[in-house]
Amino acid sequence: MGKPFKNVIYYTKPLLPDLNLLDKGLREIYSKAWLTNMGNQHKRLEKLVQRRLKSKYISLFNNGMTALMVAIKALDLRGEIITTPFTFPATPNAILWNNLEPVFCDIDKDSLNINPVEIEKRITKKTSAILAVHVFGNPCNVNEIEQIAKKHKLKVIYDAAHAYGLKYKNKSIANFGDISMFSFHATKLFHSLEGGCLAFNEKKLSRKVYLYKNFGIAGEEEVLLPGLNGKLNEVNCLFGILVDKMIQDEKKARKRIYKIYKENLKDIDGIFFYDKDNPNIQDSYQYFVIRINQKLYGKNRDQLFKKLRAYNVFARKYFSPLCSNLPYFKSNLSAKKKNLKIANQIVNETLALPFYGSLKDWEVLKICKIIKNFKK
Ligand SMILES: *Cc1c(COP(=O)(O)O)cnc(C)c1O
Repeated sequence: MGKPFKNVIYYTKPLLPDLNLLDKGLREIYSKAWLTNMGNQHKRLEKLVQRRLKSKYISLFNNGMTALMVAIKALDLRGEIITTPFTFPATPNAILWNNLEPVFCDIDKDSLNINPVEIEKRITKKTSAILAVHVFGNPCNVNEIEQIAKKHKLKVIYDAAHAYGLKYKNKSIANFGDISMFSFHATKLFHSLEGGCLAFNEKKLSRKVYLYKNFGIAGEEEVLLPGLNGKLNEVNCLFGILVDKMIQDEKKARKRIYKIYKENLKDIDGIFFYDKDNPNIQDSYQYFVIRINQKLYGKNRDQLFKKLRAYNVFARKYFSPLCSNLPYFKSNLSAKKKNLKIANQIVNETLALPFYGSLKDWEVLKICKIIKNFKK
């Protein structure tokens, strides 16, 4: 099978803007001596993001997690929020930071997203919202979730951290639910080193979101709410503006890499992945995640993970450990394994493989070969 890769190959690699362009932008920021609090770069990035996400309102944040905390706060949610355990800890943690109760709901075994049928079973008098995640850039069953929410008068928040630029049936993913959160963390396709945003269409939310992100400050001598500090500074905004120029090419490169993975993995028994060529879904191209069926493949996910490590390929066990199994959810009844059978199974089967534009074709081919040859 040949030698390990000389240099470690991680599952992702951030886009790095041209240093000359960065220098030019930094000089602009220096000349204004305006470093944060909604300056010029901030205004420009806001416009760019709005154009990409096509929602009426965009509010930039210093990261996705604070954005999510503010989304929950701005919607005035109470009691219980139904959410998925198969996500990054930021999702349930944002609920806890609002002193609300996450109610974990099992996922669909094909989409890996929250299962609408299971949502209905968990609705009680205390339920105020559904917080769903478009896992790995695969859209949730947005129509069914909307119907359930209408029927039970619930708000819907989407954690769209994996879904920047995703379109479902030609509609921007930011246009579903009451609020969507996007993360601009360095590991995401579009990033501003750290950063994030909320996207929504209701005007009423706009002022509330602004106040909660800026200490509640409404005027020079007016503080209206116990807000936090969620502002995105000028240097982060500049990075975002420069990375934005790069994402079309990056997506093209990732499409090429996806093709190689698809061609070389599709006939291996026990290895599954979403088809990114689905005409209904213009994928965000953020991750390439496979699922390993031990019965068919002959080896389990952890064995394959180790094998790849031995070749210097650092894949990632997204999303392990499952959020509902984190120690601080021990007393949460909804977190019990017997209520989350699919999620507890899936979390041991998924693996994010290296997926970024500067991967070489031969590197992808070699990764595929390692996977193929490891099969019993
Ligand atoms: C990255 C991520 C977040 C957190 O975003 P940050 O910008 O890092 O705070 C939240 N949810 C999911 C699903 C993520 O992948």
